[in-house]
Parts: sequence; C-alpha cells; structure tokens
Amino acid sequence: MTTTDLEAARTYEVRTYGCQMNVHDSERLSGLLENAGYVKADEGSTPDVLVFNTCAVRENADNKLYGNLSHLVPVKEKNPGMQIAVGGCLAQKDQGEIVRKAPWVDVVFGTHNLGSLPVLLERARIEQESQVELAEALVEFPSNLPTRRESAYAAWVSVSVGCNNTCTFCIVPSLRGTEKDRRPGEILAEVQALVDQGVIEITLLGQNVNAYGVEFGDQLAFGKLLRSCGSIEGLERVRFTSPHPRDFTDDVIEAMATTANVMPQLHMPLQSGSNQILKSMRRSYRQEKYLGIIQKVRAAMPEAAISTDIIIGFPGETEEDFEQTLYVVEQARFANAFTFLYSQRAGTPAATMPNQVSREVMQERYQRLVALQNEISWQENKRQLGREVEVLIALGEGRKDAATERISGRAADNRLVHVALDPSLHFPRPGDVVTAVVTHAATHHLIADRMLAVRRTVAGDAGELPIASPGVALGMPSIRVGSA
Ligand code: SF4
Repeated sequence: MTTTDLEAARTYEVRTYGCQMNVHDSERLSGLLENAGYVKADEGSTPDVLVFNTCAVRENADNKLYGNLSHLVPVKEKNPGMQIAVGGCLAQKDQGEIVRKAPWVDVVFGTHNLGSLPVLLERARIEQESQVELAEALVEFPSNLPTRRESAYAAWVSVSVGCNNTCTFCIVPSLRGTEKDRRPGEILAEVQALVDQGVIEITLLGQNVNAYGVEFGDQLAFGKLLRSCGSIEGLERVRFTSPHPRDFTDDVIEAMATTANVMPQLHMPLQSGSNQILKSMRRSYRQEKYLGIIQKVRAAMPEAAISTDIIIGFPGETEEDFEQTLYVVEQARFANAFTFLYSQRAGTPAATMPNQVSREVMQERYQRLVALQNEISWQENKRQLGREVEVLIALGEGRKDAATERISGRAADNRLVHVALDPSLHFPRPGDVVTAVVTHAATHHLIADRMLAVRRTVAGDAGELPIASPGVALGMPSIRVGSA
C-alpha cells in the first residue's frame, strides 16, 4: 500500500454495547472493514464509517441508541461522506424501524449477516439510499469471518451461537436464533492457530456452552473439547462462558478438574434462588440442583472461584423468594456476583407477566444483596492473603497502576491482582506471567506487593509485534456475557 493509498483509505470506528458475544462480533466487523480497505480511525477523530454494534438486553438500550444517533446529525452534516451503520441485537429487533426513526442512518444489518456490512456500506454510498438487510437465520458463522484482534495474549473462540432455551426474561433466542454448534475440529484448529500466533489464554464462548454438541448429538462434547484443549502445547489458560446449570454435567466438572490448563474458575448464572421464580423464568433447574453443582465443583476444585449473575425483582418475586436468593448466595460463597434489576423487555414473556415488582422494592433488595455479596467477596478474598499467585499481566486492568507503581492482571482463578513492580526483576509486559504473594485483600481485587518472579512468555513477545490480522478467527475478552 502506498502513502497515497493510506491517505485515501476511509476510516472506521466500531462502538460496542452489551455482552461478550457482541465484543466478539465487533472484532469480526473490524476485520471485515479492514479487509475491505478501511483503517481504524484515530482516537477522538471523526471516522468515515461509524458502526454501532447494539444490545437489546439492557434497560433503555433503545433510548440510548436513538439518543446517540440524534447527536450524530450535526456531525454528519459537517462530514458529508460519513456513513453510520447499526447492527447487533437491537437492529435485529427494530429492523426497518431504525431508518424510519433515524433516516440519516446509512446501513442496518442484523446478528445473522455481519459479513454483509462492507457491501451494504458500498451500496448505500453508490445508491445514496439507506440499506436495511436482516437475515432470519445465520448466514455464516461469525468465527469464519476475518477479525481484528486487540490482544496478543488472550482470545475468544466461539463454540456456538444462539440458544435453545426459552428463559422468559431473555430476548436472546428471538434475536440470535436457535443454537448452532461449530464442529470440534474447526474450534480446535482455531485455538491452535491462535496459540501459533502467541496466544496463551483462550475463552470458549457460547450463550450456553454446556449445551454444546446438541446439534450434532454428542452430550459429552463440551467435556471432550476441554480435554482436547488440554493437549494443545503452549496453551496455558482455558476458560469458558457461560454455562447453564441445566446442562452442567459431572463430566464437565471432571474435565475441568483433570485438565491442567482449564482454570479453576466458573461463572454460572443463578438468576434466582427461589424455585417458584426459577419456574416462572422457565429455568429448568432448581435451587437444590444449583447448590449441588457448586458442591461438586468445590469438591473437585477446592480453590475454584465461582461467580454468578442474579436478577432482582423478577415479576412475582416476593420477600420470601428474595430471601431464597440470599440463602443461595450465603451457601454458594461466590467470589463475585453481577446483580441486575429486572427490566421489562418488550417481546419477552416476562414483560407482560402480572405482579411486576416496584422500583423501590427492587432497589431495597438490590442494596441488601450487594451488601451481603460484598461481605462474602471480601471474606473470600481475605482467604487469599499470603498465597502465591500467578498473574497473567493484562492490558487495561489497572487504572491506577502508574500512580501506584503496580502492574495488573488476572490470577488463575480470574481474580484481579495488582502487583507491585520490583526493579530487580524484568519489567513484565502484557502477556507475561508474574508470580507474587498476596499482601492485601479488597472486595473486588487483591494486592500482591511481593513480586517473586517474572516469566517472559511467547505472548509477551508477540505483544511487541503487530498483531496478525485477517484469515483466522480470533478475539479477546473485555466484558462478560450477560446471559445463559
Ligand atoms: S438467559 Fe441464557 S439460557 Fe436463557 S434464553 Fe437467554 S441466552 Fe438462553
């Protein structure tokens, strides 16, 4: 590419909302655009193409999107060649409504046809008309599309998209469709390609990873996949998200416990501790089953950190139901919990259920739950004091690092650890692994002010090179999946 070409290249920015599935899709969108000759816009500059990868799960997502779009009217007027594209779950839900409400949007595409974005942008430019294209079924598995990966050391790999469950609060099945599984060989080839590029941590991603295999009739497929990851040389850390308690088998627990590079960490959404509420959420496990899984995980991996998602104020939730949730939280001793106030999502069965819980009651319950969970998180973190932890140094985990002269990353169990730098040791790079002793425990992080060793890894080396781009499906974690 000549300098003139570079000057002429149109720039892009992708703004991502919502879950990890969207983060993953956004990397594909960036990869597709770069393949088509676009270059990433500099921070703070106005891009030629601005893509919103939207989420329909969180409250107010629609208002926020339309608010953001309206702010762009004057920006577009000032930059006549600028194009705006809206994709993701909200686009899949609102479809043509988006260009009716915001006619200055150039392209609307859905969750099933990410690959069409460059063509639609081009068509909108030539025809000077908004393009709306939404497929009802998956056109191409997103992992088969090119990608632009932000991290050299960690990557997402999708095992499946969509979900066959029908949780009454969730809009995912209607937007992402039924579950589509990738074949194990394809997944493992992607993992191997990532490892060859210097990646040492992968997170297997799916709306409900434990159901993996349902499409090709192998109930033990997920456990097998974990075990196969265990034999990939150079792959140091394997994580997955999110499992559904319904499909959680003893085989997966055994695979986790016996596969050395599968990390002692589990994020397993509870949603509610009340059997009555679980029933009306159409979550087919019950409190006893959930706690039984936790018990088995703890027996097999005593040091595992378990985290969860909880919805407060689902329609019909009584004080007794809520107390059942508090009971499970006390019993399960989660390392942390992501708590959400229930919000009505149009198009979901729960939105029209009677006995919606008032905002005040939800707020009050929220505070009680968060206070209890914070206390447990703190106690659990205090149990780490004096322990030696291996921390994979990460980008962007420690906002105060410069001021505190520490460096941050994740321990094997995914706890956030800030480690004091030791000038007598190598300066750790993102992707390197540091061994340190935990000296202080807070609710949401640990401090390790005794650094014992720095292990320079291939991931740290790879981070010093430009990241290889299209061709292989790659990704990186930054936010978690909200559902399952
Ligand atoms: S909450 Fe999770 S398991 Fe339930 S329908 Fe949504 S994606 Fe599927």
